[in-house]
Amino acid sequence: MSIARFPRRRYTAGYTAIEPMDRLSALLGGPRLWIKRDDQLGLAAGGNKTRKLEFLVADALAQGADTLVTTGAPQSNHCRLTAAAAVKEGLKCRLLIEERHAGTYDAEGTGNNFLFDLLGVESIEVVPAGTDLAAGMARIAEALKGEGRRPYVIPGGGSNPLGALGYVACAGEIVAQSADMGVAFDTVVCASGSAGTHAGLLVGLESARSGMPLSGVSVRRPQAEQTALVEGLATRTATLLGHDAAIAMGKTVVDDRWVGDGYALPTDTMVEAVRLLASQEGVLLDPVYTGKAMAGLIGQVREGRWTAGQNVLFVHTGGSPALYAYRPVLAQGVPQA
Ligand SMILES: *Cc1c(COP(=O)(O)O)cnc(C)c1O
Repeated sequence: MSIARFPRRRYTAGYTAIEPMDRLSALLGGPRLWIKRDDQLGLAAGGNKTRKLEFLVADALAQGADTLVTTGAPQSNHCRLTAAAAVKEGLKCRLLIEERHAGTYDAEGTGNNFLFDLLGVESIEVVPAGTDLAAGMARIAEALKGEGRRPYVIPGGGSNPLGALGYVACAGEIVAQSADMGVAFDTVVCASGSAGTHAGLLVGLESARSGMPLSGVSVRRPQAEQTALVEGLATRTATLLGHDAAIAMGKTVVDDRWVGDGYALPTDTMVEAVRLLASQEGVLLDPVYTGKAMAGLIGQVREGRWTAGQNVLFVHTGGSPALYAYRPVLAQGVPQA
């Protein structure tokens, strides 16, 4: 079934740009590197969850919902963008925040955490790592129903088949832009977290027979676990679209060497990547996802994975508000004149 048959809200005008990163490419001395600016998607401060929410929120509205309920980490971009979409649509938003490392939630916190407040989130419940989040959200939804409200529950990262359609659509954009620019990408690289981005891109690139391999950089899980997560979601997304369910089978590539000590915990290579992209390209990455994904891409370039004539596209999935919460590990200090 065509993706055009699914109800969709539009939060971004047109396509996001694909730009060359010639200063970074020259510095690294490998293939020509390009960047897809999904950090410039619509809703507050952009990022990949905007694409997923176009389909998820359309479904919520079709069901007559009045409140979006979702979950994420204390610096969740997904929670920030769900709150922004709720504002835009005149809905309320409630958050279940999972403290993935004990003591990391701070009600006075900066970055996305502060934006939850600014975007008018109705309530925040904080639970420890390992909590059954689906059950937690179901409980919040039941309580709302008891008050005569109409909740709509969105899973963490917006990563179910409906949300992943946002990245099937993004793959369509990349294919069209590649044809238009006359640049065939030898690899497309993205961060791989809750897997909606990775799975959606994979289904979209494969069903278009793009010939562009996709490579995910894990930000959380070991390779085998992340691959299973991506393949499972890709299978269900392909099924939702009425494509061959196995379209993406055996095509999931995950590099798990850049996670460091764990999700959202800083690494030296992440700090280097964030500082390099800012100083060479004027592009702001984030410490949790795109900083580690770019560290992976830089590492692979240094390993000689591509030759000088090749083209590699990095999908910048956003996240820059989290930079502010990481100032102590990222800042070096500007010399005073
Ligand atoms: C959520 C997120 C990702 C990971 O995307 P998934 O679809 O969850 O794998 C990457 N980058 C940023 C900035 C994010 O917020």
